[in-house]
This record gives sequence, C-alpha cells and structure tokens, in this order.
Amino acid sequence: MEISVKIESDADGYTGRECPTCEKYFKIKFGTGLPGDPECHCPYCNHTGPQKEFWTKQQIEYAQSVAMHQLSGQFLAQLKKLERRPDPRALISIGFTVKGSPTPVAYYREEELEERVTCAACTMEYTIYGAFGFCPDCGVHNSLQIVNANFDLVLKTLDLAQAAPADLAAKLVDNALEDAVSSFDGFGREHCSTQPFKISFQSIDGAKEKLLRETGFDLADPLDSPAWSFVTEQFQKRHLLAHRMGIIDADYVSKTGCAPSLLGRKVTITDSDVRTLVAHLKTLAGVLYHGVVRI
Ligand SMILES: [Zn+2]
Ligand SMILES: [Zn+2]
Repeated sequence: MEISVKIESDADGYTGRECPTCEKYFKIKFGTGLPGDPECHCPYCNHTGPQKEFWTKQQIEYAQSVAMHQLSGQFLAQLKKLERRPDPRALISIGFTVKGSPTPVAYYREEELEERVTCAACTMEYTIYGAFGFCPDCGVHNSLQIVNANFDLVLKTLDLAQAAPADLAAKLVDNALEDAVSSFDGFGREHCSTQPFKISFQSIDGAKEKLLRETGFDLADPLDSPAWSFVTEQFQKRHLLAHRMGIIDADYVSKTGCAPSLLGRKVTITDSDVRTLVAHLKTLAGVLYHGVVRI
C-alpha cells in the first residue's frame, strides 16, 4: 500500500531541505533553476544527491503522520461498522461501541533563514543561513556574487551620502569605506576557507604576500603599481577608522609614506576615493575567485 503526501511550499514559495550529510537546513524554490530534475547540492558542504534524499526530519514526520492519520481513520471507520447495541430482550447480550479518533497529524512550519539568493549562474532562488554557499541546483559557489552585491550596496550608500547633510554625509562615506574593506575581507576569507593555511584580508599587503608564498598567485597582478598603492592606503585608512577614530598615527605615516605633519590629524576619506576603491576591489575579487581554486 502506498500513500502520497504533498509537501507544500511556504508562503513565499520555498520548500525546506535538509542535507543528509551535514544535516543543515536551507530552502529552495522548485523550478526556478536548471531545467529537468537536477541533483541537489547542499549549500554548506556541497554534498550532492537526488532531491528525495533532502527531505527535512519534520517533513518526513509530517508525511508519516498523514499516512498514519489516513490508515487509522480507515481502520476506525471499518470497526465502527461492526458496532452493536446489546439486545434488551435477550437474557445475556453483549454490545460494543467504537471510540477514538485517527492519530493526529504532526504539522510543521518552514524556518525563516538569513540570506535570500538568486543564483547568477542558473537563476535558482534559495535561502540559507549566513551568506555564502553553493547553489543547490548548479553547485556554483555564490561568494563572488555576494561580494559584488555588497559592493553595489556600498555605492548606494555613497549615492545616499550625496543628498545628506554634511556631517551625516561624512559618516556615510566613512562607513562606505569600512564596508567595502570588510566585504572584501569576508569574501577573501570565505573563498580561501578550504585552503590549508589561514588568511585575513584586513591587511591587503599581508594577504598578497601570503597568497604568493602559499599558492604562487599574485593578487596585485591586475593593478598597476600606483593603483595597488592606492588600494593599500585605503585599507590603512579603514584601519584608522576602526581602531583610531580616524586619527592618523605613526604606523599610518610609516606605512603610507604620508607627510609626518599629518600626525594627529583626521584622515581624509572622499566619495571618489571609495568609488575607485570599490572598482579595484571588484577586479581583485574576480581574479582571486578564478585564480585561487577552491578546494
Ligand atoms: Zn551538507
Ligand atoms: Zn545555480
């Protein structure tokens, strides 16, 4: 005997999935990605297998409970037909009644997740914990797509700053610089997270040297020397914003070669510098993504 149970999507059209290997949860919109019936990739560990292996424990429990509900309902209905009242005229008569109700259905709700992504490679719509992951349909990792979306948000912040009062505008431009650097750092760490060495991109010079030493890849290659110096200077400015309230210290003077007379002054961060930085970081993210192969 076979009972089919339909697993409904949530109000936004997403269906919950659970990886059979790492048991982590994500959601997909069926039919938005590759045509046909592609295998499913776990966004977190990239385990790949048929869709039927990715049901969540709650969905399986629900399906089993629906089946049990139907079976127990049918069983009770059949027993009910055999119900008998005792015969009042008989000397001895036994009757019986059937009581009880079908076993309950274990309803469930899909969870809300942090990041909604539409895969740039295959258009699959999915939601995951965190931000970075493999597309459940085509398996392409989304780190480059996510960092570019973050860079676009930085540019939107700058657009916002142009229409803001001066003090707020200055703060928004400072934030835009910090966001650009931390987006690149988050992307770089994620992309290199499966490498056998640890790396941070908060100092881009340090990251460049480490990558060169460990993998032979030169991050600075696509930029000419003045452009690379410009990028490293912006990273130094971000360091001042994050740790020195934006006040120029001796370390900044020695690392950037700026005039020592600027010591103790507030560092200058401009809209056009942040825009130029974002353009360079988009280039660097692209070469890092393709140049250092994810293991
Ligand atoms: Zn997994
Ligand atoms: Zn995809």
